Order: sequence, then structure tokens, then C-alpha cells
Amino acid sequence: MSYGYTGKILEIDLTAGTHNVLKMGEDFYRKYLGGPGIATYFALKNITPHTEPLSPDNVLIFATGILTGSFGPAVPRYTVCAKSPLTDTIGKSEAGGFWGPELKKAGYDAIIVRGKAKDPVYVNIADGAVKIKSAAAVWGKDTLETQNALEQAEGEGTRVLQIGPGGENQVLMANIVNELGHFNGRNGLGAVMGSKNLKAIVVKGSENVPCYDKEFPKDLSRWVAKNLKDHALAYGLYWNGTPGGITTMNANGSLPTKNWQESVFDRAEEIGAQSLEKILIKRKGCFSCPVRCKRVVESKDSEMPINPALGGPEYETLVCLGSNLGIGDIKLVSKANELCNRYTLDTMSLGMTISFAMECYEKGFLTKEDTGGIELTFGNEDILLDLIRMTAFKEGFGKDLALGSYRLAQQLGKETENFLLQVKKQELPAHDPRVKAGLALQYAISSHGADHWFAQHDTLYTEKGSSGMQSIAQLGVAEPVPADELSAQKAKLIYYTHLMTIMYDCLGVCIFGYASRSIVSLEKLAQLVEAVTGWNISMWEMLKAGERASVMMRSFNGREGFTSSDDVLPPRVYDGITNGPRRGEKLNEAVFTQAREVYYQMAGLNEQGLPTISKLAELEIDWLAE
Ligand code: SF4
Repeated sequence: MSYGYTGKILEIDLTAGTHNVLKMGEDFYRKYLGGPGIATYFALKNITPHTEPLSPDNVLIFATGILTGSFGPAVPRYTVCAKSPLTDTIGKSEAGGFWGPELKKAGYDAIIVRGKAKDPVYVNIADGAVKIKSAAAVWGKDTLETQNALEQAEGEGTRVLQIGPGGENQVLMANIVNELGHFNGRNGLGAVMGSKNLKAIVVKGSENVPCYDKEFPKDLSRWVAKNLKDHALAYGLYWNGTPGGITTMNANGSLPTKNWQESVFDRAEEIGAQSLEKILIKRKGCFSCPVRCKRVVESKDSEMPINPALGGPEYETLVCLGSNLGIGDIKLVSKANELCNRYTLDTMSLGMTISFAMECYEKGFLTKEDTGGIELTFGNEDILLDLIRMTAFKEGFGKDLALGSYRLAQQLGKETENFLLQVKKQELPAHDPRVKAGLALQYAISSHGADHWFAQHDTLYTEKGSSGMQSIAQLGVAEPVPADELSAQKAKLIYYTHLMTIMYDCLGVCIFGYASRSIVSLEKLAQLVEAVTGWNISMWEMLKAGERASVMMRSFNGREGFTSSDDVLPPRVYDGITNGPRRGEKLNEAVFTQAREVYYQMAGLNEQGLPTISKLAELEIDWLAE
């Protein structure tokens, strides 16, 4: 009997219209756990080096974690991998919601999708049975229309994962959504679905995930629900959601504003959690999550109606489509969020691409002629919704925005690269590495372009006795490090918390439910894994499984020709902050390069940033050496 996993991986060939089932044993699951561990394993085995990301040869993998769907607290997550059309690296993106747990209940731990359907299709998986069906009726529809149509066609309780027009039109920043509010947001993996003519994968299952100890996961969830109020960080996530970060970031002088030209926004309060409260109608959660950090907003204003079925904006969206564009209207930014959700566009990459274009316009590298008459200025509230729609449908100037900021800069000329905020062609999230210096390593070293969840954030580890320091003590980190310091100790902190974070992805748990960001400690997590799987497994073994996934991702990139010369930061972060309390603060490039070197050595990467033979041997993935 297996616990925590079904042992079955579904392979679908869209070109042939066939499917088959791979059976994997306990050794495989214990070694790779799930999420990016399993997904990257199959990416390496199935994607030939230098595959064109939007060709039928790319392979799309959906993989749940070993805890996904187990009724422990905050265990909804699954990973999507493919070669990314945005970054040309391994693409990796996690989402919560309900689809991952339902996939397991339907009998599969993961799905491998290859080829391309002749005409648009969706895949229906119901209690193990697989059907490939025509998507003619929903192709071209937005996500709300598609969700309703597929629920009606497949029955109540069906969980829908899908792409909207952004994915169908292969916009390079298109994402994937399940149940209208949970996104595999980054790396343009929705465009890969679109390139395969795959509109949706709908799942329905009736078998609960087998757990060795059925009671412990539920007891732990009940404990979290009961004690949430006593944990300031976790309760803050429930009460304010991620938008709680807006006013904090603004007060400490690190709120990206007008394409990061400024770091304090005079209208920050207007897009913060308290303003959002005025249109908030509900707090919502993912599968089995007592933290419930999701927002649902509504406006019945006839000028700016907002449909609550599409959820509500997160911190990153409020910044990237708000302060970063000089926009301070909460209803407008929430409407922009709704449109991005309808069309499946990543709000971070889109917002940062628009802000890059605005700076180019401001400095004369783009003209009204280029934009089709659009006055592309910061703070212009009249153009935002049109720009989103034009990007999703690649209309007019939207066709340029659909390329993302890096490729747009290539079109506009070398001088515009100074305004770019990207790593490996993926736009930066809304956290400033000049203030949280560990993010410099996170953004640069991440295998799939700038990612703020590569590791945990500096501010959790600046004071003795803080919840962050208490939680990381188990890994042997005893001394706090200032947020803006980029020392060898900071490199260690990022290395250790990267292992912790990618282990969470492999397990299928949400970072907002677990240490250091939240209430469940590493000790309790280890107990949960034992209870679900029945394995006598240590935290060391799980962290090493996380590291295995990380090293496999870097190996994928190594095959594609990526080296340390790609682990670099955009020029603007070496410029001083221009306004607010942190004015003048900047990163030092030599200090960053030194910290990156220290990180490489700790992580078993050579001077080119590639895994050493000894690291591959330690992790028992020597098969990658060739
Ligand atoms: S903390 Fe938020 S994102 Fe994470 S599982 Fe819970 S509701 Fe979902």
C-alpha cells in the first residue's frame, strides 16, 4: 500500500490523441517527492536540449507534491514545468487552489503532455478515466465563460484548470489558472498550453489521498485554525492578505514606483489593504487551508464593475499595475486584475513591461506613432484596461507588450536596456534588493528568472527571537543578519532558505502556512510528512530532495547553455534609491559578485554556476553528469 501518492503518472500525446499510465515505485517518490522534483525529472527525460518552447516538441508537466490533498494545513499545491517561452530556461510555476488535490483524488500524481492537438481540445479526467474532447465551444472564451461552460458540461464538483485568450494567443507572459483564482503565474507556461491547442484539463475524483495516519493531518489543520490569532505573521496574512505589504513597503522606502525610478508612492494608501477593504466582500482559502489569505472584491459601480467570481488583487498586482505605473485608484487596479485573470496574463510581467514602455515613452524611445496614438505616460488611468486587452489579443501596440520587456528592449535599442528590470528575461517581482539584499541572490540565481519565492526574505531574520530566527534555528542558523547586508552569512541564509522553499514546493505545501513565514514549524511539518507517508524521514532527507530538484533545474539550464553570466542583475539596482527614507542606498556590484561566488561554493556549483560532479554524486543524480 502506498501513502501520500497514487503511484500513477498520466502521459498524454495530443498529436496522436492517445494516453497511457506510467507506474512509479516508492523509491522514486522518496527520492523526488513531487512538485518540481518530479516535474523537472520528466522535463530532463522528455525535452530535448534547444527545443523551441512553443513547438509541439516541448513537453508540459503538471506534478502534485507528496502532501498535496492530504487534509494537512495549506497543502493544495502543484507545479507546472516546461521549457519557458519567456526565459528559454526550465519553466517552473506553482499554484494552490483545488485542482492539484482533485487530480490526486482522480487517481494521478502528475500529468505529462506532449505533442499538439490538430484542433483545440480539453482533457477530462474522472476517477482515472481519461478523455480528450473538442474545445471548439470554449476556444476564444475568457476564463469565467470557460469555467461555467466546462462545469456545466462535466458536472458539479469538476475542477477546471485552463487558459484564457492570452494563452491561446501565445502571449509570452500568459499564465494558467485553476478555479478562476489560483495561478501558475510565471514563465509564460499558459502560452505553452496554447501552442498545444490545449484549452483546459478538468478533473474530478472520489478517492481521498491515502494517508498512513488519517487523523494527524486533520488535527494539525484544526490546531492551526485554533492558534492562528496568536501568530502575528499568519494572522496578518488572514486579515490583510498580501496587500498588507503595500503601506509597510512604502513606509520603509522600498515600494517600486514608476518603473522603479522612485521608491515611495504618494498614493500608496489608496492602493493598500485598508482601501481594498472598502470593496472586499470575502476572505477565501485554498484546499484545506485555515490561513485563507485570498481576497475577493466586488464593485457594482456601473462605471467600473468588478466581478467577485474573479477574486481580488494580491500585493504584487497592486504594485506592478498600481504604484509602478503611477496609478493609485484601487478600483481601477482591481478591475485590471480582473481583466488579467479573465485573459490569463501574469500581472507582474505585464505591469513591469508596461512600466518599462512608459519610461521608454517618457525618454523618447517610443512615440505616439509607435503606440498607435496612446499617451503612454505614468499615471494615465485611461489607458490601462485597453493595454491589457490589446496585449491578450496582440492588437496594435499590445503585440509589442506581449513580447515582455526584454524582447521589447531588443526592438527599441541598447540604450533602453538601462530601464529594464529583469533577470533571464523575466520581469522582477515587487521587492527591492537594494533594501532586502538577499533578494539580489534570489533573483540572480533562480533557474527560471527573477522569482521572489526562490528563498525566504531577509526581513524575517534580522532580530534575535523573531519568529523567523526561531524557525530557522533547527537548521543551525543562530545569528540574525541585517536586511541590507550581502555577506557570506547572508549567502548561507539564502542557500538554506532556498532548500526549505523548494522542499515546500516538492511537498506541495504553501509557504504562507509554514515556517519561517507562518505558523507551522519545521518540526510539525516533519511529523506531517511522516503521518501522511508512513516514512521514517528526517528534515535532512527532505531538504536534500529539495536540493535535488534545484540542481536538476540548473542542469536543465546548463544543457541550454546558461552559465554564471546569466546570473546577473539589471543595472538599475546598482543605482541609488532616488527618494524616501532609503534615498541613496544601492547595491554594490563587487559585493554582489562576491556573495554569488560564496553561494555557488556552498551549493556545490562551479565558477560557471553549474553543478559539480561531486554535488551530482552526493544527490545521487549522477545520470545528469553527461
Ligand atoms: S495561505 Fe493563502 S495561498 Fe496559501 S494555501 Fe492558504 S489560502 Fe492558499
